Amino acid sequence: MTQDVDVADRERGLERDEGRKVVVIIGGGFGGLNVAKRLRGVDVDVYLIDRHNYHLFQPLLYQVATAGLGVEDIASPIRTILRRHKNAKVIMGEVTDIDRKQRLVHFDHGTVEYDYLVVAAGMETNYFGNKESWEKLAPGLKTLNDAVECRRRILRVFERAEWTQDDEWARALLTFVIIGAGPTGVEMAGAIRDIAHEVMVRDFRNIDSSKAKVILIDAGPAVLAGYEARTSERARQDLEEMGVEVRLNSMVEEITAEGVRVGEEFIRAETVIWAAGVRASGLGESLDTELDRLGRVIVNEDLTVPDDDRVFIIGDLAHFEDPRGEPLPGLAPVAIQQGHHVAYNIRYALRGERYRPFEYNDKGKMATLGRARAVAEFQDRQFFGFFAWFLWLFVHLLFLIGFRNRVFVMLDWFYAYVGMRRSARLIMKTPQEVQEPPERARLEEEIDQISLIAGQTKVEQPAERRRSGGQGGGE
Ligand SMILES: Cc1cc2nc3c(=O)[nH]c(=O)nc-3n(C[C@H](O)[C@H](O)[C@H](O)COP(=O)(O)OP(=O)(O)OC[C@H]3O[C@@H](n4cnc5c(N)ncnc54)[C@H](O)[C@@H]3O)c2cc1C
Repeated sequence: MTQDVDVADRERGLERDEGRKVVVIIGGGFGGLNVAKRLRGVDVDVYLIDRHNYHLFQPLLYQVATAGLGVEDIASPIRTILRRHKNAKVIMGEVTDIDRKQRLVHFDHGTVEYDYLVVAAGMETNYFGNKESWEKLAPGLKTLNDAVECRRRILRVFERAEWTQDDEWARALLTFVIIGAGPTGVEMAGAIRDIAHEVMVRDFRNIDSSKAKVILIDAGPAVLAGYEARTSERARQDLEEMGVEVRLNSMVEEITAEGVRVGEEFIRAETVIWAAGVRASGLGESLDTELDRLGRVIVNEDLTVPDDDRVFIIGDLAHFEDPRGEPLPGLAPVAIQQGHHVAYNIRYALRGERYRPFEYNDKGKMATLGRARAVAEFQDRQFFGFFAWFLWLFVHLLFLIGFRNRVFVMLDWFYAYVGMRRSARLIMKTPQEVQEPPERARLEEEIDQISLIAGQTKVEQPAERRRSGGQGGGE
């Protein structure tokens, strides 16, 4: 450790044991966590730094966003996961800079010196220059907070629609636009359709939630663009059969509090979800090396940075080319395998041996399309429908971290499948809600104020309320 580390940190055992090498890992996602796990019992000190205190199973974020699972089901404390790894220490902190010359990592409350550095900081949502204006109107789905915010918005519109007398407003409330038809968009579209058509339909009295419209929009010509043409086509057909409106070759040009503009058309929709893009963590820039157009670090075949054999980049942040010259996709198995590989390379280096090149063992890919349908690709084979969904279920349960999570998720899925229910349907206030943009706050006022008194119904329309100076239907 350097002198920047305060006395309290030294007392907590963060000081450097001279002679013992230090491996610093940035990111406790699929990549970083697997480096730490595979260094168990090795004669090195491992410091894993993450801005969160939990490891997040991102492939199931959409299940939290659509009330199928609770947040604890898909996230586990990193400290608990590494409890038995005596050489691993966890630091909860935001890494702000990497100084390769002096081999230092600066985070928001300290600095740590490394012998080997593994950067596994992943990706973040990309609004292509429109972040300021679009982020609050159309949340992405990359973090646990994003998922809780999506869930709050999705559940709340049904409550609003149940109470309004204005048909046009009710239609906007029950219109869901998902921008981006990659795996996240496709999974969200299918799950929202399921909630509206199969779950809410039995719990609401005034609305017919099966009339809800789910619109999936993409600028490209196909859904699931990185998949085989046959898989993409099958996914599109299945979604349309389920009632999802798929609009391809359609560019969203504007997002407002009222909806989205696609070409000449304005689609009024209260819920808009952004699943259209990601870009690499900004930490790649602080490495001062070559990046690709998504901000990923271009790495050597052993996953090191070109001019520095002490710094490894893995997972979503790495641009690693396969034998055809294509960068590996941003998938959990890529990050996991690279994490294992880097741990072995560090072991080789400690024994004075050379690093080995990384080879990806392709495990295929899959996406769900609702409650009992999915598409899956393994090697040259494709699977569809119920069988693919069953495979998906099995693989995701297998990779969920923690016995408790596996058991609870299995029970939740059984409950959802048999009972057409969603276990996590609580509407929680989130920090985003407090910061909602003024246009949305104004829209909230547009809801009818209805009084049911002694068998009489009195409906006060927003315009009347404004004349009389009244406040509109807040929570
Ligand atoms: C909605 C969604 C669905 C997905 N579905 C699938 C799927 O079905 N199958 C599949 O294989 N893959 C899926 N993926 C992709 C998969 O989750 C990623 O490829 C994988 O998480 C990459 O692992 P990683 O370790 O590189 O990054 P991540 O898992 O993203 O981990 C990065 C970690 O770094 C931390 N971090 C970032 N910046 C900093 C900083 N400055 N300071 C401190 N900590 C920092 C973050 O908190 C995070 O914990 C999905 C992703 C998303 C978002």
